Amino acid sequence: MKIIDAHNHIDFHGITADRAVADMDKNGIDQVWLLTWEAPENEIDFDLFRKAIHPSFHSLTFERVHEASRNYPGRFIVGYCPDPRNPQAIDKLEQAFHHYDVKVCGELKLRMMYDNPDAIELYETCGELGLPVVMHIDYPIRLRPGRYPRSSYWYGGGVEALERVLRQVPQTNFLGHAPGFWAHISDDGQHVAEIYPKGPIVGKGAVIRLLETYENLYADLSAFSALNALSRDIGFTKELFDRFQDRFVFARDCYTTELHDFINGLGLPLSIREKVFYKNARSLIRDV
Ligand SMILES: [Zn+2]
Repeated sequence: MKIIDAHNHIDFHGITADRAVADMDKNGIDQVWLLTWEAPENEIDFDLFRKAIHPSFHSLTFERVHEASRNYPGRFIVGYCPDPRNPQAIDKLEQAFHHYDVKVCGELKLRMMYDNPDAIELYETCGELGLPVVMHIDYPIRLRPGRYPRSSYWYGGGVEALERVLRQVPQTNFLGHAPGFWAHISDDGQHVAEIYPKGPIVGKGAVIRLLETYENLYADLSAFSALNALSRDIGFTKELFDRFQDRFVFARDCYTTELHDFINGLGLPLSIREKVFYKNARSLIRDV
C-alpha cells in the first residue's frame, strides 16, 4: 500500500535528508510532508535542538526543506509556515508557493494565540492557495520550574483558540497535532497537568466534539502524543478510525515504525487503512 507520512522534519535528532530517505525506503513510505519550524529563537526549547546537526541553525528553515526536496524529487512534499507576526509572512508564503512548489503550511509552532489576527490573515491566504495548515498545540505545563529562560514551552493557546480559528476560517483545512491537541481525546481535564495523559476515556473530549462540528479539522496522528492518546482505549480508538476515517492522517514526526505497527494491529478494513495511510493526505493538497 502507498504510504504518505504527513508530518516530519530533517536536521534534528541526527536525521539528514539522506537518512530520512533511507528510512522511507526501508519502511515503504513513498512521500513525506517535510515541514519547517520557523520561530524566534526565544520561543524554541533549546534542549530540543541540542542535537541539531546543521551548524548555522536555530530553527528548521525553508531553505533546508527546499534543498532536500530538490535533491530527492518526488519524495518530499514541501511545507513552509512563516511566522505570521512577521509583516512579510504572507508575501513569503506566496512567493514560496509560486516559485518553490509549497503545498502545505506547516509546522505552525509559535508562542502566540493561534487566533492572533495576523495569523487569521495567513490562514485565509492558505485557504485561497489550497494549503492545509499543520498546528502544534502545547499547554504551559511546567517541566523545569524556575529554569531560565522559560519554565514551560506552550504553543498556540489551547483548544479554545483552535476552535475560534476553525470557526473564523472555514475555507481552510487544519491538522491538529501535539500534546495540547491529543490530550483532548478525553474530557478528564488532564491537559493542564499532563503532557501524555493516561487512563480510560471520559466523556466527550474536545477533539471529538471539534471533529464532529468542524469539517475543516483533521487529526495529525504523529508523535507520541497521538500514539499515547490512541492507546488509552483500543475499542474507542477503533470506533474513532471508523467515524473519522476521512479525517485521520498518518504522520510520524519521528523515524520509527510504532504508529504504523499500531494502526496495522487494529484490524481495520483495507478501505479505512488506505484513507488513513495516504488518501486523506493526498486529498488535502493540490495536484499530486
Ligand atoms: Zn510539532
